[in-house]
Amino acid sequence: MYETQGHIDLRNSDYLTWFRFLSSTEKWGKQEIDDYQLAQLKRVVTYAYQSVAGYRALYERAGVHPQNIRTLEDIREFPYVEKELIRDDVEKFSVSMPGRTYTTTGGSTGIPFGFYRDAQSFSKELASKAYQYYRIGWKEGDRQLVFRGLPIDTPDHTVFASEFNELRCSSYHLMPEQMEVYRQHALEYRPDWIRCYPSSGYIFAQWLLETGRFFPPIKGILCASENLYDFQKEVLRRAFPNARVFSHYGHYELAVLAGFCEFTDDYHVLPQYGYAELVDIQGQPVTKPGQIGEIVGTSFIMHATPFIRYRTHDFAVFKNWGCPACGRPYQIWERIEGRLQEFIITGSGRLISMTAINFHDDIFDHIKQFQFHQREQGQVTFRYVPKNTCNEVILQTIHQRLLSKLGADVVLALEKVDDIPLTNRGKHRFLIQELSLKSHDEGISVWALGEQRRKEVENE
Ligand SMILES: [Zn+2]
Repeated sequence: MYETQGHIDLRNSDYLTWFRFLSSTEKWGKQEIDDYQLAQLKRVVTYAYQSVAGYRALYERAGVHPQNIRTLEDIREFPYVEKELIRDDVEKFSVSMPGRTYTTTGGSTGIPFGFYRDAQSFSKELASKAYQYYRIGWKEGDRQLVFRGLPIDTPDHTVFASEFNELRCSSYHLMPEQMEVYRQHALEYRPDWIRCYPSSGYIFAQWLLETGRFFPPIKGILCASENLYDFQKEVLRRAFPNARVFSHYGHYELAVLAGFCEFTDDYHVLPQYGYAELVDIQGQPVTKPGQIGEIVGTSFIMHATPFIRYRTHDFAVFKNWGCPACGRPYQIWERIEGRLQEFIITGSGRLISMTAINFHDDIFDHIKQFQFHQREQGQVTFRYVPKNTCNEVILQTIHQRLLSKLGADVVLALEKVDDIPLTNRGKHRFLIQELSLKSHDEGISVWALGEQRRKEVENE
């Protein structure tokens, strides 16, 4: 049944070339990385200046020139690029080239927009992710069970993709009877890995734990496309005791990629892929451990629509330079705080990251699924699908505990619902944020939030 003829990526020469390049740089020291990044910054900025009308106009207006780049710090003279700028005039920020494909980002978060990827960039993206997975023993052709964010219209909502040796299960159908179908497949297929959105893996893991069902041992869980929250990690670890829960940060624009290493759950920013900056509200570099900043990325692999000093609206917490555990001299982030649209805004304008809310609490065992919803500043609705064990007293406790995290400047309503719909990419979102947040809005300070969180952590 599950016959495979070898992994399709191993027949892709762009993939193989990039993978070999990454492997050859595995032992690079700080100086080699800096030299490489400086050369790449010069190259992409020169390319954009010469070939991309939008960038040329932007740089001429700012009075900067590619020749200004002599050190890595010099890139800071170049203006940031906002999503809106590219969205409103994508052709001006793109280069016509054969084989480019139009890509759109998900409409459920932030600002939806489209841009072009050149033929090679996606192969490099796949190879870069694979390169990170190699750290924990993954390789192309390993058996993997994938919860896929695409509807699968076969009778049992699974399909075997032999060219990837992966068994794909629809994440749109994570109902108990359907999860049992997936489990039965797994018993026969014996996957080495599960690949999933954290939200899908979490629902599956919770169901396994609650029903006490056996799942064959796996080496790890590869999480992608969403922030992995601590409460999800904990449930995944409990459900799959010897599996490594591995996560990385990335985005469709392919400007920054950062993954865990062999030993730690910190995000190691891959320096061959792009140049990543964390910037504070004044646009200054974040340098202190524990400080939060917006991720600003310059892609080394995107040429059809280049992204240079691109503001991602995603936030991370800086840890330091270099990981003592694995020895890579990379930029290390302790945590991804999530997309701007994953923050709740309180009545007084504080932003609360979903990572700040503690779901480890046993009280949440009495609900099946939940989702926050915000339409107005300072007001939040907590929608929940109750389990049979849920009652009024439990609901009051949930209300209290959530409020203690959200603060006195939030009005919280609980709303019982029958189910929680998925996004159009098959994700289970924890927050539907209808307010349009901007990181540079006056009176809204994500960075102040970072300070507050750090104090909380210190006091815990
Ligand atoms: Zn490390």
